[in-house]
Amino acid sequence: MKNSIKIIQPDDWHVHFREGEMLNVVTKYSSRVNRRCIAMPNTSTPITNSIEAINYKNLIQKNSGKNNFEALIPCYLTDNLDIDDFEYALHNNIFIGGKLYPNNATTNSQYGVNDIKKIYNIFEILEKQNKTLLIHGELNRSDIDIFDREKYFIDEELYQIRKSFKDLKIVLEHVSSDYGVDFVKTNINIAGTITPHHMLLTKEDVFKDEEINPHHYCMPVVKNEKDLTSLRNAACFNNSKFFLGTDSAPHHVVDKKQNDSLKAGIFSSSNSIELYASIFEEENALENLEKFSSINGPKFYNLDVNDQYLILDKEDKIVPEYTEEGNIKIKNFYANKKIHWKVAQLEV
Ligand SMILES: [Zn+2]
Repeated sequence: MKNSIKIIQPDDWHVHFREGEMLNVVTKYSSRVNRRCIAMPNTSTPITNSIEAINYKNLIQKNSGKNNFEALIPCYLTDNLDIDDFEYALHNNIFIGGKLYPNNATTNSQYGVNDIKKIYNIFEILEKQNKTLLIHGELNRSDIDIFDREKYFIDEELYQIRKSFKDLKIVLEHVSSDYGVDFVKTNINIAGTITPHHMLLTKEDVFKDEEINPHHYCMPVVKNEKDLTSLRNAACFNNSKFFLGTDSAPHHVVDKKQNDSLKAGIFSSSNSIELYASIFEEENALENLEKFSSINGPKFYNLDVNDQYLILDKEDKIVPEYTEEGNIKIKNFYANKKIHWKVAQLEV
C-alpha cells in the first residue's frame, strides 16, 4: 500500500468563488493546491463582458496571495451579449470560453438562456476561435422530474448542438448520471468534469425520511447508486475524457443554507484533492489520479500541464464541520467524516 503519492499540480476546472468577503475566504482554499481554476461567472451580476472578466480575474488572483495562481473566466452567455466584445475577449484569452446556463437551472441563473437556438451564433464564434463551450446540462421544466433534467437536456438540446457544431469543444460540467457519462464517452470533442460529491453521495443522502439535508443539496442533484458507480468508473478508469471540477459552491450557513431558503451548492475546496485521492484509492486506481486531476483538463483546453508537483501523504484526517472566518461560516462537505490523505507539499 502506498504511503505517499506525487502528482503534477492539479487544476480545478469548475469552482464558484462568489464575491465580497466570501470570495476572500474561499479563494485561499482553491489556490491551496490548484495552479488554475475556472471561476464560474454566475456572480450576483453575471460576468458578461471583457472588463468584468478582467476585474474578476484580478480580484481572485489578488486574494489568492500567490503569484502563479490563475483564475480562468468563461463568459456568462445571455441572449443579448455584446458580440464584438465577446469576440475580442475570446481572441485575447480574457475569456476561456462561454458558459451556458439554461434559465433558472441553478444559483443566479435567472439571466441564463431561454431559447438556446437563439444563441447558436455564439456557438459558431466559439467553434471558429477554437474556444470551449461549458454547459450546465440540465433542462429545467415543470414536467421534467428533477432527477431526469440532465437526460432531457442531452436529448433535447445537447444532441442538436453536437450535431450542428461538430468542431466545437464542449465540456459537460458536473456530469451526474450514467446517461451523461455515456454521452461524453460516445461523442467527439466533448469532455466532462466530475465532482467529489457526485462520486460519494446518492439521493438517499439528500432526501431521507421526508427531510432534505440542505448540505447535500446541489444542482445537478445527486442520483442513484448506478449513476455514482458509472461516474467513479469514468473518473478512475476511463479517464481521458473526464477531469477534475469540484463545483465547490459555498453558501453562508446561517442565512442561506437552511431549509426555508434552500440553496443548491456544496463546499468542497477545503479538502478537494484529498477527497478525490480517497475515492481513487477506494477504487484501487491511485495511479490514474494524476491524469484526472492534472493532465486531461489542460489537454482538452489546449493549455500546458503544470510544472510543479504535489505530494500527498497517507494520513487520516477528520474534516471539520465548518470553514469559519470573520463573518463567513460555511458548512464543509464531508464534515465530521474521515479522509485518508493529506497534502504534504508542493515542489518544483
Ligand atoms: Zn457550478
